[in-house]
Amino acid sequence: MYKEVGDVMPPEEKNGLLRQLPAVDQVLRWAETARLLEEYPRGVVVDAVRDVLSQAREAILNNEPSGARREEVVRRVTHAVRPNLKPVINATGVVLHTNLGRSVLCRRAQEAVARASSGFTNLEYNLTAGKRGQRHAVVEALLCRLTGAEAAMAVNNNAAAVLLALSTLAAGREVIVSRGQLIEIGGSFRIPDVMRQSGAILVEVGSTNKTHRRDYRGAVNERTALLLHVHMSNYRIIGFAQEVPVAELVSIGREYHLPVVSDLGSGSLVDLSRFGLPYEPTVQEMVAAGADVITFSGDKLLGGPQAGLVVGKRDYIERMKKHPLARAVRIDKLTLAALEATLREYFDGDAALEEIPTLRMLLRPIGELKAVAGELAARLSQALGGRAHVWVEEGISQVGGGAMPTAALLSALVCVEYRDDLSVNEAIRRLRFNDPPVIARAEKNALALDVRTIAMSEIPLVVAALQDAARGN
Ligand SMILES: *Cc1c(COP(=O)(O)O)cnc(C)c1O
Repeated sequence: MYKEVGDVMPPEEKNGLLRQLPAVDQVLRWAETARLLEEYPRGVVVDAVRDVLSQAREAILNNEPSGARREEVVRRVTHAVRPNLKPVINATGVVLHTNLGRSVLCRRAQEAVARASSGFTNLEYNLTAGKRGQRHAVVEALLCRLTGAEAAMAVNNNAAAVLLALSTLAAGREVIVSRGQLIEIGGSFRIPDVMRQSGAILVEVGSTNKTHRRDYRGAVNERTALLLHVHMSNYRIIGFAQEVPVAELVSIGREYHLPVVSDLGSGSLVDLSRFGLPYEPTVQEMVAAGADVITFSGDKLLGGPQAGLVVGKRDYIERMKKHPLARAVRIDKLTLAALEATLREYFDGDAALEEIPTLRMLLRPIGELKAVAGELAARLSQALGGRAHVWVEEGISQVGGGAMPTAALLSALVCVEYRDDLSVNEAIRRLRFNDPPVIARAEKNALALDVRTIAMSEIPLVVAALQDAARGN
């Protein structure tokens, strides 16, 4: 429609182009955009058209008339109306990718969310008694049976669980914790900061690499509220290092009548070390070791929705449920629905390892990964023709989400090197703009797709995305 002009356009030409710009109403009548009105609220589409037309005007004034072409306007409007939160294809191989929403829900959890969201539920209504009930009841018995604990509750996330535990049990009093465990989780969650926020007073003991039983004993006084153990989920101290195990902290706690709170972080319910993954203490082991309150995430190794789970001794948990903060950090019904369905998967022995996507991806055998990579590489070679060099390589995927930092999971990477002069970084950028976006990484000057986190059903979408990237999107 418009000619491309690289140099400065004469004013009369600019004015001509500006006059040719369609009106908002006109764009809304184009077949391509009219379709969007069926899919999205009218105001959303109108706003997008307005924005895109004003960008087009701006572009003409900046001597870039191509931004006003009909197909460009349609492309931009289509892009702009899409939801901000959208599915992406995770080709990074990082299973618990915090930026990509950590755990993918299992099928039954997805169905439970759909059911719980489409009508009323007995969220806080005891159907037997015909009166008000507790939302914690939805998962409490399940959590107790799975972990062996006396009582349980669920909140919004593990950070909230730790904050609630400290606020309830230690506000205005002292909490003893090893220096080696004063960790930062990311997103500014630091144990000392959470402690301050809760009103508890941090008492650090030991040194970065070594803490002994006598260090805890020496710090106990009449102001002490509890002993805190924080699992070093996202880093390790190796070499000359020692911490006091939870079972021993518990015995010190018993001597002085102090509870032991354990922030377990990842919160695995199955010991994955029997499949060759690094050993992580399970929630059951923490309960058996005698910890009074244990907190962990719902969406890390558990493989459920974002949630903070608390299990432990009834007295402490009941106090936490009644604390005013509990209301501020309470779990919502959709999360609760997904959590219940996820927990139920663990009642069928090793079936959880298949049904729960996080566990399935972590345990995907290298043979399967290589087969998937071979398939993807073959389809890519065919689709990209002479435009790219495609090959399969062994690589390493990470667990992510601050879990098992030392785990190096052997995986299969599909590597792509575009011929032309499409750089790896530009290709990665284009994949991000794809619909759905594909998140890939660069490895040794090639674009690398780690198939661990790519579902079979996503392969055609990945192929199409790489093909479009080659064409310049
Ligand atoms: C991840 C983690 C947290 C924070 O959990 P969220 O569910 O992300 O709020 C707290 N403590 C430890 C030890 C963790 O690993």
